Amino acid sequence: MKNQVTILGGGIIGLFSAYYLQKQGFEVSILDQGDGSDGCSHGNAGMVVPSHFIPLAAPGMIEKGLRWMFDRESPFYVKPRLSLDLLRWGWAFYQAANAKQVDRAVPALRDLGLYSRQLYHDLNESLPFSFSYEEKGLLMICQKEATFDEEVEVAHRAHALGMEAQILSAEELQKREPQVEISTVGGVLYPGDAHLSPNQLVQGLQALLKEEGVQFLYQSQVVDWQRSGENITHLQVQSSKGLHWVPIDRLILAGGAWTGKLARQLGQFLPMQSGKGYSFTQAQPTNQTIGIPSILLEARVAVTPFGEKNIRFGGTMEIGEVNARIDERRVHGIWKAIQQFYPQYAIPKPRTDHVWYGLRPCAPDGMPYIGQFPSIQNLWVASGHAMMGLSLAPATGKIMADLLSGHSTPVSLDLYDPGRFA
Ligand SMILES: Cc1cc2nc3c(=O)[nH]c(=O)nc-3n(C[C@H](O)[C@H](O)[C@H](O)COP(=O)(O)OP(=O)(O)OC[C@H]3O[C@@H](n4cnc5c(N)ncnc54)[C@H](O)[C@@H]3O)c2cc1C
Repeated sequence: MKNQVTILGGGIIGLFSAYYLQKQGFEVSILDQGDGSDGCSHGNAGMVVPSHFIPLAAPGMIEKGLRWMFDRESPFYVKPRLSLDLLRWGWAFYQAANAKQVDRAVPALRDLGLYSRQLYHDLNESLPFSFSYEEKGLLMICQKEATFDEEVEVAHRAHALGMEAQILSAEELQKREPQVEISTVGGVLYPGDAHLSPNQLVQGLQALLKEEGVQFLYQSQVVDWQRSGENITHLQVQSSKGLHWVPIDRLILAGGAWTGKLARQLGQFLPMQSGKGYSFTQAQPTNQTIGIPSILLEARVAVTPFGEKNIRFGGTMEIGEVNARIDERRVHGIWKAIQQFYPQYAIPKPRTDHVWYGLRPCAPDGMPYIGQFPSIQNLWVASGHAMMGLSLAPATGKIMADLLSGHSTPVSLDLYDPGRFA
């Protein structure tokens, strides 16, 4: 059993880890409790966003979060509950949400984001299937002067980091989207961002990896583990075959919002909360095509056109337990924002059974966990990417392959250390 890697979790992070590990000559198995047909990596907004270099835990977020908690249609919500995990997570978030921490995080996120964006550019040329990748940039659209002022500051920060950001007046912004009326005071265009179809990407990678010999063990849930010294030797798995033990050479946790729970099962502390979000995909109204992916800033709604025909709207971050409930008031909040930002853009409110939900894996400081656990030699983690998992997936997968091969990584991993809260 040489150079064998088991990846727990077949979302986009697990898939890209498998892709690059397999290229480096590893024998790879992916183990997933689901059947690979849905999950957070499937129906997300598909944005590749090096422009998102400010972590979620930033100054002002706690104030905003508290205000939003009393609005059932708001884009961010922490469901209050008596839970030690939530308290620890909230405390770590509070400690990270300051200017000094953000100043440290910004260059690290920029480097990871730009690296991943470059890998997507290359993958678009090299992968043998289309995932509708387009480099059209990202428009940040503001309705209030105060938000516009904040966004202009972010644009200046982007310039200082060597990234392109174009500050647009309301008229200039409107010219970029000539077919739809936009109610705005101005915005910022990040020409370096891109977008793609996450559904096509996940399905394409699954098929390619199967063809190339990666083993997929679906509907297989890890329930226990065995350890010898500083190594995990076996996982006990519940599957259609019943309870059985799977031998382990090297193990990567890429279990999305469940990774904190998985780590706990393996005796590790990895604070993680699920951040539920919703999306719905519709046909674009005739002669009113939105062409550039956008974020409606005050509402935190993501708008992603898939070609000229279809469009996806996504939003809401409900921090809380893992569950499948769709909160219609928050879906209404997304739909209302679309009417407010595009007053003539007539799309019907989606039926609840047409709304998709996904659980973002959220680390408390807004930084993913990428690296090796301190106390177990053959255990790595790649998770906690929150609202940037699709964007950062190729970089994360490539870095996992580098780490397991003993190569140096092209970006510093200091701030992504999985042991930072231990
Ligand atoms: C509305 C919305 C819009 C978004 N838009 C964007 C965007 O535009 N750009 C972007 O970059 N990101 C976006 N995201 C975030 C992105 O979707 C996530 O960060 C990403 O999908 C996380 O991928 P993952 O592989 O870590 O987790 P997942 O896709 O959740 O995969 C984890 C897998 O682990 C499996 N698993 C868990 N526990 C176990 C266990 N015990 N045993 C076996 N298997 C297990 C699960 O079944 C699951 O398949 C969005 C998210 C939402 C909700």
